[in-house]
Amino acid sequence: MTHLKCACHGLVNFGNHLPNTQRRSLLKVALTVPAISVAPAWAIGKDPDIIFVNGKISTLDARHNTATAIAVKQGKITHIGDDATIRKLASSTTRIVDFKGKRVVPGFIDAHCHPMETIYMQNDWVDARYPDVPSVKAALKRIQAWANKSEPNKWIFVACVSASQNKFQEKRLPNRAELDRVAPNNPVVLANGTHMAVANSMALKMLGVTKGVNKLKHGGSALLDAQGEPTGVLTDVQADVPTTPTVEEMRDYYSTGIQKLWNQYGFTSVLAITPSAALPVMQYVAQHAKQPTLRYTVSVWTSSNAHDMPEDLSAFEMPAAANPDFYRLGGIKDWVDGENDCRTGYMYEAYIGHAETDPPGNKGTLVTPQTDIDRVVKIAAKQKKFSMLHCSGDRAMDMGLTAIEKLMHSTKGNTFARIEHFGMFQMNASQLERAKKLKPRGLHISVQPTWLLELVKADFENMPAAVAKTGFQFRKMIDAGLEPAAGTDMTGIYMGNINPFTAMYASVTRNSDRGVFQTEQAVSVTEALSMWTIWAARSIGESKLKGSLEIGKYADMVVLSDDIFAITPDKIKDLKVAATIVNGEVVYS
Ligand SMILES: [Zn+2]
Repeated sequence: MTHLKCACHGLVNFGNHLPNTQRRSLLKVALTVPAISVAPAWAIGKDPDIIFVNGKISTLDARHNTATAIAVKQGKITHIGDDATIRKLASSTTRIVDFKGKRVVPGFIDAHCHPMETIYMQNDWVDARYPDVPSVKAALKRIQAWANKSEPNKWIFVACVSASQNKFQEKRLPNRAELDRVAPNNPVVLANGTHMAVANSMALKMLGVTKGVNKLKHGGSALLDAQGEPTGVLTDVQADVPTTPTVEEMRDYYSTGIQKLWNQYGFTSVLAITPSAALPVMQYVAQHAKQPTLRYTVSVWTSSNAHDMPEDLSAFEMPAAANPDFYRLGGIKDWVDGENDCRTGYMYEAYIGHAETDPPGNKGTLVTPQTDIDRVVKIAAKQKKFSMLHCSGDRAMDMGLTAIEKLMHSTKGNTFARIEHFGMFQMNASQLERAKKLKPRGLHISVQPTWLLELVKADFENMPAAVAKTGFQFRKMIDAGLEPAAGTDMTGIYMGNINPFTAMYASVTRNSDRGVFQTEQAVSVTEALSMWTIWAARSIGESKLKGSLEIGKYADMVVLSDDIFAITPDKIKDLKVAATIVNGEVVYS
């Protein structure tokens, strides 16, 4: 009997052996039978490659069936049931793997992440993340040490977690003059999460931000003082600042680094938000991948405001030679606004201001005007892709919903659209009602439960309490049938928390960085798991292949160190991945 260990067998895909039409009709058959059942016609009499036995398997199918054994052939599940029944299928060549009584759940799907950035920031950025770096003073010290070792004129990027102005001891960010002092010979950009940055004088000059210039080329903005001088504060400059890794480094990240990191936390699929500049690298990796262990659904963004989003998305497709079971283009992304934790999410009410970084009466930043949001949603729909609208503030959420309502009224065709970060910072009754109406026609929402542990405190410091208390209402979303899909947003808030168990713990216990936050919004363990599996699969349009353990779907599973259904909720955060299985092969243990 084989115990769980990393296999080095080639990953074979059932999908490669059947024409698409045949494959689709088989899936239909497979999905209509209950999980514990005889196999569909194509699998009967064929010896399974692998049989997994002795597990506590939560299938997360529609009936929440459980099982103890699974048979796998060519990467897909052919049978699910009890040990005795499934063992009978074994032939002399079938490998048998013992789950040793452990809890097994479907492979996790990260429904919103920026994987390439995560890896290169780990390698190439000054790490000034709270709480390891507790103050502006400590951050400056790190930047100075880095600058002393850097060649002159070389870009220096500094990673700070979102809302660092609320977290650093000084209750502010480092400023332009301080960055000039510690790094006089290098352009420096310090990122406060994704949507706000502080630049030194040399960086401003290289970005073309001089007196009176408040708009950058690719959607970013610069804050000016009363005399028209740039203060150093920049918003939404994701596409304006140069990136550091070489093409070779990026290829390496996509083909190895990212897979390893995500597999380690039980992820078998990611929705990889990819800048158009890095897309050729992704396409190259997709074409040449030998043994992928992570399934990529790619979503492409051009500039923050999607101004240069082409009408025809065919250049974004994965190459024909790429394995469609591992690489596919899913959609496109647009940033409607900034983000509430740095007071740039687009709001109806003014933020509680911070003099150094906020314009007077600050209500956030609208990055993409309504007509352009409408356009992005239409481009995606026309080409049978989904649009992802980043909507952080309440006013931005309404604009996103409006664009999707218009789309749904104007077409009977594909109306698959997503709102990112829906209700994370606030959500009112009318937004919930609008979203509920749009759900049956193809609205999906993505949420980031880990932020409960990182951003609730800052929300109450940045926004009126009446607004802040309406964030993170998962119970309401689920009761309205919205099926929130969870994502890590690595590295939307700069190398944040990739651990899905931390997120599940927060959603179930409602622990936050401001104490227990609204217990009535707690979710069940099954719901917390669904957010990272079946609902995430639906949010990327792939629930026929992923998200639950059912006949015909990929044999992607996670073996948990402890039984998530048996432990007390506060122990969920301590869970570990005992093994990650992709296509029936152990890729991490
Ligand atoms: Zn993001």
